[in-house]
Amino acid sequence: MIKTFVGPMHSSKTASLLVTYNKIWNKKHIKCFKPKKDTRDPGVLKSKDLEETVPAIGIENLSELLDHVDDDTRIIFIDEIQWLEGDVGVLNYLSIVKDIDIYAAGLNMTSEQQPFGITPYVLAISDEVINIKASCMDCGRDAPLTYYEGKKDVDTIVGNAGYVSLCPKCLKKRENEDSLKLRFLKKNNQE
Ligand SMILES: [Zn+2]
Repeated sequence: MIKTFVGPMHSSKTASLLVTYNKIWNKKHIKCFKPKKDTRDPGVLKSKDLEETVPAIGIENLSELLDHVDDDTRIIFIDEIQWLEGDVGVLNYLSIVKDIDIYAAGLNMTSEQQPFGITPYVLAISDEVINIKASCMDCGRDAPLTYYEGKKDVDTIVGNAGYVSLCPKCLKKRENEDSLKLRFLKKNNQE
């Protein structure tokens, strides 16, 4: 079984993982993972909404899950899955063949409103997807989008600084239609 929580920044995805974690009485059979790339709070799953943290193993590629999972492992948690690399077949193998319950969380889109890394593939194989909305920081509506307020030197920047959650209406207020059109239809323009 694979259940995935997605949404923009500030949508309490990690909190959703931790709430699920807390409901499991016997924690002996759980293993938690997060990307080494995520330099915030290394070694733990941590949400701004909750005080407690949960130890997590840092990995870079999904294939590393196979080194850590053993016969005692029944449930795994993976946070910030968009930062991981590798083949989602590993998740299918662990879920279907090894009968491990997998709870994952991550960003579905970048702040450029493009599908983020391996997340689309994770969603394709998930048994259940929970799409969590954040609160629009400009107007208070439900916010499905992440927006970066600063100037970017690299494609994606790890961290929270400069990232806001927005609803579509407020995205259009922050950025004019021509620039949004250019961004969304980028791939078509190149062909
Ligand atoms: Zn708004």
